[in-house]
Amino acid sequence: MKAMVLNKPGTPFELKEVPDPVAGAGEAVARVITCGSGLTIQHIKAGRTPATFPRIIGHEITGEIVSVGAGVRSLAEGDAVTAYYYLNCGYCRMCLANLEPLCENAGGNVGKDCDGGYAEFIKLPAHVFIKLPEGLDHRAHPAEIGVVTDALATPYKVLKRARVKPGETVAVFGAGGGLGIHQLMMAKWARARVIAVDTNASKFDACRAAGADEIVDASDGKVIEALLDLTRGHGVDVAIDYVSTTATLEAGVKALAVRGRLVTLGGAGKPFQVSSMDLLLKEQDVLGSRYVTRTEILETLDLVARGEVRPLVTEIRPLAEAEALHERVERGAVTGRAALRIG
Ligand SMILES: [Zn+2]
Repeated sequence: MKAMVLNKPGTPFELKEVPDPVAGAGEAVARVITCGSGLTIQHIKAGRTPATFPRIIGHEITGEIVSVGAGVRSLAEGDAVTAYYYLNCGYCRMCLANLEPLCENAGGNVGKDCDGGYAEFIKLPAHVFIKLPEGLDHRAHPAEIGVVTDALATPYKVLKRARVKPGETVAVFGAGGGLGIHQLMMAKWARARVIAVDTNASKFDACRAAGADEIVDASDGKVIEALLDLTRGHGVDVAIDYVSTTATLEAGVKALAVRGRLVTLGGAGKPFQVSSMDLLLKEQDVLGSRYVTRTEILETLDLVARGEVRPLVTEIRPLAEAEALHERVERGAVTGRAALRIG
């Protein structure tokens, strides 16, 4: 099969012929139709996220099962599928509690610790594939459906994690990014008042189109003041920080209202300061949110199937143009998500 192989971090992809994967016991192989090209996998390509090499990256796939190994009963040839990003075990306490991203026997990630979707075929443990629910036309909209598992489901899960209620004010830091723009969309879907915070003015129109009621240009460094102004001094009910630098996290927490919630995800894991007295006196929460469960992916796919939300994919390129596309992802030039068309 043709595959876009990454031989080492920080080097260009190599389009080459590699052996077709063969499904062993408990595994299945899918033909890949499209695969999303987001920042998560660009971090692997750039060497900012460690992985083993050579590697075929990519996890936001839409595909069709072509073969299943011995003992696989959950999938059959022809099933339309996407993939879960985590290689979780399925039987530990966390997995059984429907908290799969916190799996105690985590085996890493698709496209990082095993080969992923930048190829004509992908082989995974059968339970890692997710069968698409009824009502989705995966042949007409493969790129949009493929990115749901991460770009749209992650923001959907954040709404639950932060207990967002209709009428609350939600500020999204890094709103112009691939996940940020989908967070605006999901927060609007949840009937919140949505404030986009970003430094990249070229993304502001897309932020408004995705559902932002107001925009805060963070490039002048006065984010806290702007958020307090927009809320008559009360602060925002929820701050969701996809940038998660020390500066953005400290701004987010200072801009919180009484009973406000700060959610961190993304970023490089740097420490930040919070006033414990503010947490106490204002009953505020500081939360982390890690990927999604399979159930949340299925719930998000159902929302898409019902036409309530639609992922924003603005660039679809053939597999051979992966390098050029990743150069745009690295520069933050893509609005929403980009994807590769493979099969
Ligand atoms: Zn587990």
